[in-house]
Formats: sequence, C-alpha cells, structure tokens
Amino acid sequence: MGRERESERYSRQILVPGWNQEKLKRATALIVGLGGLGSASALYLAGAGIGRLRLCDCDKVERSDLNRQVLYEESSIGSFKVEEAGRRLAALNPLVELEKLNVFLDSHTVGELVKGCQVILDGLDNLESRFILNQESFKKRIPYIYGAVHGWLGYAGFFHPPQTGCLACLMQPGLSQPEPVPVFGTVPGMIGLVQATEAIKWIQGIAPSLLGRLLIYDGLHLTFDLVNVDKNPACPLCSKK
Ligand SMILES: [Zn+2]
Repeated sequence: MGRERESERYSRQILVPGWNQEKLKRATALIVGLGGLGSASALYLAGAGIGRLRLCDCDKVERSDLNRQVLYEESSIGSFKVEEAGRRLAALNPLVELEKLNVFLDSHTVGELVKGCQVILDGLDNLESRFILNQESFKKRIPYIYGAVHGWLGYAGFFHPPQTGCLACLMQPGLSQPEPVPVFGTVPGMIGLVQATEAIKWIQGIAPSLLGRLLIYDGLHLTFDLVNVDKNPACPLCSKK
C-alpha cells in the first residue's frame, strides 16, 4: 500500500525525462536558514520526495516574516522556525525524513551540520555565516547553492570547487548590509525555487545546471540574467597557491 501511494505521489514528476526518484530518495540536503529562501526550497524539496531534509535555524517566527516565509502562518508567531517548518513539511510529505536542528551556524557547529549531506542550500541573510558555510563546503567538497535577495533583486549561484569558483571568488567578507533589508516576498520565493531546482537536478545528475554561474533576477523589470563566475586566482579559499 505504501509503495503504491508513493508511486502515485510522484507519478507526474517521474514522467520527466531523466528523472530518478530513487536517487532523490537516497539523498540528504541541508538547508541553512528557514526564511524566505529556505521556506520555498524546503517545501519543494519535500514535495519532490527528497529522502532526508536537514533543517537548520535558531530563530523564532516573527509577524514581519509572514510576507515571504511561506512555511509559517499567524499561529506560528513566537514558535521556533525549525519546529513550525517541521510540522508543515511533515504534513506535506510524511515520506521525507526531517532533521530539525535548532542550532546557530558558526565555525564550531558547521562541521556537524554539513556531515553526510549531498548538497547545501544557503538560505542565510548575512555574509559572515555564508562565508563559514562556503568554507566548509569547500573543505568537504559538498556543492553549495547560494541564494540572496534585496528589494526586487534576487541572486542564485552554484559553487563546487575545483570545478567552479566559490563564493569567496565573487565577494569579500565584511560587506555588511544595513538592517532590515527591503524584500518583496515573491523574490526569495523565486530564488528559493531556483535553489531547489538546482539541488534536485544535482542529486539526480541532471545537466545542464547553474554550476559556475550566477543568476540575477530582477522582479521589477522581469529580467533573468546569467553571468559566469570565473575562478578568482586571488581567492583566499579555493585558489591553489
Ligand atoms: Zn574561491
């Protein structure tokens, strides 16, 4: 019975050429940050039937999150995001194993967080944490899917050195943004879905991908630009010296 329900659940996506549900079922994805980006990517990774989702966030839901963080509702306010996200995702797809980590990402915790996962989705909102995650992904050779938003603009990138450059090739640490950052809710939704798409393709070995490139989405002018992210020979992290 369970098996039948499972094939019924995924019956539309397995029609997609090249689709490999078994590979997806065996995979673990880490989502760090369950905000606007992580909400969108988590819902679609769970819906697609990824085997295990490791969710990491130590914040509680605030009312100002609800314009974009679609995992939550009014009644979620004041509760931990991992708990609310876990409830919502389990209700969506009980076949997905959920690991809820109410953990602050830093250089001490990052090693455990990424352990055993096949892909990392960055749903963070600050560059310091992104650099810690980028560094760990480089060290452990786990591909890193970057996402960021500002106002009408959204960015998605896919780094997997040495095949590509890394986040530190593209930007320097220490660039701090004034808080709070303006965000129109659909923009992190769009970018989170791009991140989920790339994660699902990567796990199944479906090409082409965003590897080594940056997608720039402009929600105001409705443009999608793809630019190459070259390896930076002066990169302090991934450049061989
Ligand atoms: Zn680099």
